[in-house]
Amino acid sequence: MQIRSAVFAAVLPLVVATAIAQTAPAWPQPDAATRNLALGIFRQLIEINTTDSVGSVTAASQAMKQRFVDAGFPESDIYLGGPNDRKQNLVVRYRGTGAHPPILFIGHLDVVEARRQDWTTDPFQFVEKDGYYYGRGTQDMKDCDAILVATFLGLHREGYKPDRDLILALTADEEFGQSNGVDWLLRNHRDLVNAAFAFNPDGGGVDLNNGKPVSADVDATEKLYADYQLIVTNPGGHSSLPVPDNAIYHLAAALERLQSYTFPFELNAITRSYFEKLSTLEQGQIAADMKRMLATPPDPGAITRLSTEREWNATMRTTCVATRLLAGHANNALPQMAQANVNCRILPGHSREEIRQDLIHIIDSPKVTVNYVDDGGRISPTAPTDKGLPPVALKPEVMEPLQKLVDVYWPNTPVIADMADGASDSKYTNAAGIPTYNWSAIELDPADMRAHGKDERLPQESFWKAVQFWPQWIRILTGGGSQPQP
Ligand SMILES: [Zn+2]
Repeated sequence: MQIRSAVFAAVLPLVVATAIAQTAPAWPQPDAATRNLALGIFRQLIEINTTDSVGSVTAASQAMKQRFVDAGFPESDIYLGGPNDRKQNLVVRYRGTGAHPPILFIGHLDVVEARRQDWTTDPFQFVEKDGYYYGRGTQDMKDCDAILVATFLGLHREGYKPDRDLILALTADEEFGQSNGVDWLLRNHRDLVNAAFAFNPDGGGVDLNNGKPVSADVDATEKLYADYQLIVTNPGGHSSLPVPDNAIYHLAAALERLQSYTFPFELNAITRSYFEKLSTLEQGQIAADMKRMLATPPDPGAITRLSTEREWNATMRTTCVATRLLAGHANNALPQMAQANVNCRILPGHSREEIRQDLIHIIDSPKVTVNYVDDGGRISPTAPTDKGLPPVALKPEVMEPLQKLVDVYWPNTPVIADMADGASDSKYTNAAGIPTYNWSAIELDPADMRAHGKDERLPQESFWKAVQFWPQWIRILTGGGSQPQP
C-alpha cells in the first residue's frame, strides 16, 4: 500500500471553490445487478483470510477464478499458478479485437496481519456499519480487487468488446512474504502479463478534505524501499567498570549524525511537474516558494521552508530514518552489541548500495558497520546496485481522458501526477518496462487512512463511486466509451 501523497493541507483555497461547484452528485449510480455483484465479491474477499501467517492467497484466487469460469470466460484465458500451494496468483485475459496491445491491471490479494483483540469487529468478517464497510483489506486493497473483478464480469456480461486485450492479475505477497506474485509472473510467465501499460489501484486516488475532493492523485513513479542494519559490537564487561568504548554510545552518536543530516534536494520529471501544478493552486508565500524552488538555480531558503511540510520533504529528497533499536543483554553488563534498523526511501535514479555508502559517510564512525537488510530479513554487507527507474512518461492518451472523467465524478478536481513515497508492486512492472499508473478512483480523507491499522474501513459512497467509475474508464481506454462531457 502506498501512502497517499496528500496535497490536502496545502490547497485549502481550492476547497472553497470546489464546495460551490458541488451541489448535486453528477455521477451515475450503479444498477442493482452491479451492486449485488460488486458487494458479493467484496464480502467474499474480505472473509477469506489472505495474511502471510495463516491465510491463503490461493483460496482467494480460486474463488475469483470460479467466478470467471461461471461467467463463461474460457479456461484457456484463465491461469492459476505460483511458487507454492498458498501463494497462487490468478491471471485472467479478457479478449479484445487486438487493434492495440493489451492493458494490464494488477491487484494484490494478500493483506496485513490483523488481530481480533485489537479490533472492534472481527477483521475477517465483512461488516456494514454507519456508512462504512469494515474488515481487513477494505482499504488495502480488496476493495479494488473486487471492483476490478466486478468490472471485468460486468463488461463481459454486456458483451462488450474492447479494442485491446484486458489482463487482470490478482497476486500474492505485496505486503509481506517471499513469493511476490507480480515478480513471479514477470519472471515465469511474462507472456501472460505483457502489456503496453498497466494500472495498479494500490495507490493514487482522490483526496478529500471535510468531504470535498481536493486532488486526484496518480502515482507515476515511486521511491525505492531499503532497510539497513547499523551494528556495533564490543567485548563488553562488568558495568561497574565502564570504559569510553561503549557499543550503545557509538550507535547513539551515529544515529544523532543521521538525525541531523538532510539528503540533497533533487527533482525528476514527475516531481517537477507536480510542484509546477501545485504552485498554481497554492497562494501566498507557499506558491512563491515553490516557484523559487523550481527556478534555476533553486532557492535554498525556499527549499528549507517547503521541507517543513513532511509530504513535500519526502517528495524532494531521499529520506532515511531510524525505526528500531536493540542493544545490551543485562542491566549490569556493558553492551556487547547495539544495533538499529534504518529505513530509507530512495529517489528514482539511485541504488540501495549508493545510499549504504552515503550512510557510512554520514555516520563517519569505524565502530559502526552498515549492512543491508533484504525483504526476507537477510543481512548482507553490500546492497543491490540496481537503481529505481526514472519516471515513466505520462501518456496524454491516458491523462487527458482521465481528467475528463474525473471532472464528472469529482468536479473541479485536478488530476495530479506524483511520486509515491511508499512502494508498491508497480516497481516490478515499471522495472520490466511496463509503465504503471497507480490510480484507484477511491476517494478518501487522509485522516481516515486505516490501511495496515485497526478497524480498517471504507466509506460506502467511496466504494460505489469507484464501482461505477471503473467500467466507464475501461471503456474510454479501449475504444468503447465516448469522452464524457461534464
Ligand atoms: Zn496495498
